[in-house]
Amino acid sequence: MTKRFNGQDCGAARCYNPLGMSITFQREKIAGKARAGRLITPHAVIETPVFMPVGTAATVKGVPQDILEDLGAQIILGNTYHLYLRPGVETVRRMGGLHGFMSWRRAILTDSGGFQVFSLSELRKITEEGVTFRSHLDGSSHFFTPESAIEAQIGLGADIIMAFDECTEYPADAARLRASMELTARWAARSKRYFEEHKNEVPWKQYSVPSTQYSVPSTQYSAPATDGGASLLSEDIGSEKSDNRVLSTEYCSTQALFGIVQGGMDRALRKESAERTIEIGFPGYAIGGLSVGEPRELTREIVESTLEYLPKDKPRYLMGVGTPEEIVEYANLGVDMMDCVLPTRAARHGLLFTSEGKVSIKQARYAQDSGPLDPNCGCRVCQRYSRAYLRHLYASNEVLAQVLNTIHNLSFYLDTMQRVRHSISLGEVSRFPSAVWSRPKA
Ligand SMILES: [Zn+2]
Repeated sequence: MTKRFNGQDCGAARCYNPLGMSITFQREKIAGKARAGRLITPHAVIETPVFMPVGTAATVKGVPQDILEDLGAQIILGNTYHLYLRPGVETVRRMGGLHGFMSWRRAILTDSGGFQVFSLSELRKITEEGVTFRSHLDGSSHFFTPESAIEAQIGLGADIIMAFDECTEYPADAARLRASMELTARWAARSKRYFEEHKNEVPWKQYSVPSTQYSVPSTQYSAPATDGGASLLSEDIGSEKSDNRVLSTEYCSTQALFGIVQGGMDRALRKESAERTIEIGFPGYAIGGLSVGEPRELTREIVESTLEYLPKDKPRYLMGVGTPEEIVEYANLGVDMMDCVLPTRAARHGLLFTSEGKVSIKQARYAQDSGPLDPNCGCRVCQRYSRAYLRHLYASNEVLAQVLNTIHNLSFYLDTMQRVRHSISLGEVSRFPSAVWSRPKA
């Protein structure tokens, strides 16, 4: 069966991984604790450390997919809770998964829905079996289990999906922390069991995609030097000629299911959670349950100590952090993947991150300011528009204000991470902003 998706195919015709593998992670350079590497997913090769823009409802709010590509977004996040409620997993699955539905050919990661359900503290009830919650849209009642959360994520078809976990609130007492961490460990085992039994049901497996419809992602790759599967990788990544053949998606690799370490702000529990999650066995590990109201120093402390217990040869994903300064700091600690709503959410509120510090564009002081938002930023917004214009758009509540502000903030985050990768590749540790910004752009 041949299927086209709204004029854009999902890109899965080009398999980046050896047969049967979900992802491949290669560390290429180490600087201190920081690592620069490549994460090879079914839809794209991602240079790490990477910042992942959040696209909650199959859209990074305000930014079209082609602009995201221009900004250098290598992987974006989708949100299982939101997509499950609207438009529904089955709708997305029939469109070939999120890649086909939203016409995004690079990588996608979906969360398990656990964090959003956790955020609905008034509207949820947790048992051993799963979580009952009420929709924030219409108040309807739903039940998520580790199995149904993985089923939904297989239907959505992201490259990387997450185990169903309980995000423990802060603060929490010792008994509560332990019970919650143990529940997450049991749910991780159930998540993996369901995934192993159903991983071939991912939407890319349902169709053959004509490769002539496929265009090469703009990020260019050289064939990575690797052992197992090297020839296949070289063939598929290094040569555009391989685009001209029709490759059944049956040859494609599966999704990758990551485990999540919990344990609140208790270092010993974090260690135990890491050990138990590693024992279950995942191709990548996330640190969850942070940025839930704790002081920033504590976040850093827990991240640093938890990283010590995670395997060095697997990708490490720190969920839901942070400011530009913090993402540089976490990359230096050895985190490979990060996401945060901050750049997009702050942009919609007129708060912009620049090389000269934060700018609240709504302020009257910018009303006559003809200069660019950030003189050191090469993004399309800073190259074209003045602070006065951006301030006017915001003050007038124009839709374009949100679009332009979001484009700049995302560009700033993605550029920051690109500079961090550059520093690591030179064997140096980045400091924000001075060392990061003193370097010419790659
Ligand atoms: Zn800019």
